[in-house]
Amino acid sequence: MIAEIIVEVSSSEVDRVFDYKIPEIYRGKNLIGYRVFVPFGPRRIEGYIIGQKENTNVDKTKLKEFYSLIDKSPTILPEMIELASFMKKKFHLKMVDCLRLFIPSQMRGEKIKPIYLKNYTLNKEFDFSGHDFSKAKKQLEIIEFLKQNEKLENKDLKKFSSSAISTLEKMGAIKMFLSQKMRTPQDCFEVENIHHELSPVQKRAVEKISGDGIFLLHGVTGSGKTEVYMTLIEREISKGKTAIMLVPEISLTPQVLKNFKNRFGDTVAILHSGLSAGERFDEWTRLLTGQAKIAIGARSAIFAPLQNVGAIIIDEEHDGSYISETNPRFNTFEIAKFRAKKNGCFLVLGSATPAIETYYLAQKGEIELVEMPVRVNGKNMPKIEIVDMLGEIRYGNNTMFSRRLIDELENCFSQKKQAILFLNRRGFVSFMRCRDCGYVAKCSDCDVSLVYHKFENKLICHYCGKKFKALTACPECGSVHIREGAIGTEKVVEELQRLFPDVPVFRMDNDTTRTKDAHQKILSNFGKNKPAILVGTQMVAKGHDFPDVTLVGIIDADQGLYQSHYKSAERTFSLITQVAGRAGRSESEGKVILQTYSPRKYVYNFASNYNYKGFYEKEINLRKTTKFPPFSTIFRIMFSGDDEELVKENIKMCYNEIVNIRNQFTSDFIYLDAMKSPVSKIKQKYRYQILMRVSNENIEKITELVYNACDEKSAKVSCFVEINPQSLS
Ligand code: ADP
Ligand code: ZN
Ligand code: ZN
Repeated sequence: MIAEIIVEVSSSEVDRVFDYKIPEIYRGKNLIGYRVFVPFGPRRIEGYIIGQKENTNVDKTKLKEFYSLIDKSPTILPEMIELASFMKKKFHLKMVDCLRLFIPSQMRGEKIKPIYLKNYTLNKEFDFSGHDFSKAKKQLEIIEFLKQNEKLENKDLKKFSSSAISTLEKMGAIKMFLSQKMRTPQDCFEVENIHHELSPVQKRAVEKISGDGIFLLHGVTGSGKTEVYMTLIEREISKGKTAIMLVPEISLTPQVLKNFKNRFGDTVAILHSGLSAGERFDEWTRLLTGQAKIAIGARSAIFAPLQNVGAIIIDEEHDGSYISETNPRFNTFEIAKFRAKKNGCFLVLGSATPAIETYYLAQKGEIELVEMPVRVNGKNMPKIEIVDMLGEIRYGNNTMFSRRLIDELENCFSQKKQAILFLNRRGFVSFMRCRDCGYVAKCSDCDVSLVYHKFENKLICHYCGKKFKALTACPECGSVHIREGAIGTEKVVEELQRLFPDVPVFRMDNDTTRTKDAHQKILSNFGKNKPAILVGTQMVAKGHDFPDVTLVGIIDADQGLYQSHYKSAERTFSLITQVAGRAGRSESEGKVILQTYSPRKYVYNFASNYNYKGFYEKEINLRKTTKFPPFSTIFRIMFSGDDEELVKENIKMCYNEIVNIRNQFTSDFIYLDAMKSPVSKIKQKYRYQILMRVSNENIEKITELVYNACDEKSAKVSCFVEINPQSLS
């Protein structure tokens, strides 16, 4: 008998199945999904059994036997082995990199072990009548406790004297036994299980979502999507099925987790980056063994080792975090689709602002649209007021706060309410803008804004790579007041403290939330103070429910708009909707002040009226005429390595191959070029990229050919392909 094994080496040369003889003791057993130790060259390494067969073509003298199985049971489900093959093909990945995603990383190299805990019970055989405990008060306490309770669990130990326990154990009155400690994250303190009576709109949504289709749940902020998800999960669990629920990492707040824990108790396993290695391992184990039936977590929870899945839910489906931007690069939606199909279950994509691509699929009828157009509490969405910051400058106000925003802040504080100020800042790239007329430099060929590269002092188009001189004067009005558009949260906080010395200001961004509980601490401190201001980035936009926030200020809405990306308007629309959703969630009416230098941009008009459909229509037409996704597919092929000449040589080879593909599919190619990457060097590795945009008619064939073209490269250069990448830097 032969085992087909993928070895634990991530290198393109060994990215194939190796045949090994199965040792005598394991014959006749189904070994698929087990991890094994194998001889590999002179080394002993780990591997995964992905298949079994009677015979092999491998030469008898070369065929080796594997050493032993690592685990007592299989760790990779048959469905996941198929998934790995699917991902390899779909995203041009190495098989081992996919398999690695399916198990907690610390299992490799046996870096993690189960933990055992001490518990005690009364020894039924012990003759209690022969002992007088009345003088030993501490021992008596323990005995009394164990008469009322079946066992003394590890967590209760500290209530009792440890010397009394050990004395009792020695005399034989109590017995110790071990239990495996599940490092289940317990930061979810008790809150009552709120089980809302579904509104008619929610009820209709729940009824519509069933069977094995894909559904887009388009519900405005506050429409009660979470309650719909929970009801769906409950329904499937009651049929004996399991469920996977994905939430963007940034929205995976303790509040959200608590809600799920309260509703589903120990049947929920949580998978997110805040867990310790041990916690992660144990949560994963509970899923694999069937102790837990619901996996909730960020992107990687889509790989939860669950069988018989009845529901897969992706909340905030438009969120960029569902696309992995590091190796292995994959799109969670494709994986969810694969698993839903395998399990014959439904997939729900939920959002208040669906990705244009997703809504397009719904319009075409490829996925089913379920709408929840009203808030559960019947409250109106807060009014969004657009403030023209150029008008402020003309008036002589050169600060980052408009007069309207200052007025509203004062108003808010005088009523002892809270405000959230939001700064839309992503990454470190920035654009150049004229402070006098609002002009922003754009590429002459692509209708996207240029990105300022400080190091080269050039403006560069991230789509076609074309370079332009950095601005010294505005080509529209001649002004020399050119600004690099980017103000930081720190600066905002500083200004606020100067303007409102008596109001506490809290700041939440990547810098202030590095430690494990920082996120929660900031939110909880903010919640306790009235009046108060919370200043932050994307993090403040998601999911928080503060009843006393009556004002939301968007400091510089344009920041996202001039990211050089075809999705920048879409992202801006989505963020405005999200942040606005933080205001006026209870009795008091909310207000949103949106500051912009381009008040007439269509995205602001639609966003301030909460007109998603209007925005969609405009945007989809634009994409159609400019031939951007979903009407085309963008590829970025990145080559990187220590030796710049070698990288260049390799990319040239690949580029020539792709030119051949273009010659074959001329009418499909909209764009093709090779260039230095905008971030030209990372960690001493030179980066060069090929950008291409093709229509979708022959996309599968073209993708395959492109992948093949990428395989012909030197081992010293690494290469990856991204499809419709989130970022081009
Ligand atoms: P969304 O995710 O759609 O923005 P949420 O799921 O956060 O909305 O729900 C908004 C609020 O409404 C939450 O506080 C939730 O507890 C509450 N809620 C949800 N469903 C109901 C209902 N049927 N009746 C009353 N309140 C509800
Ligand atoms: Zn100008
Ligand atoms: Zn361009």
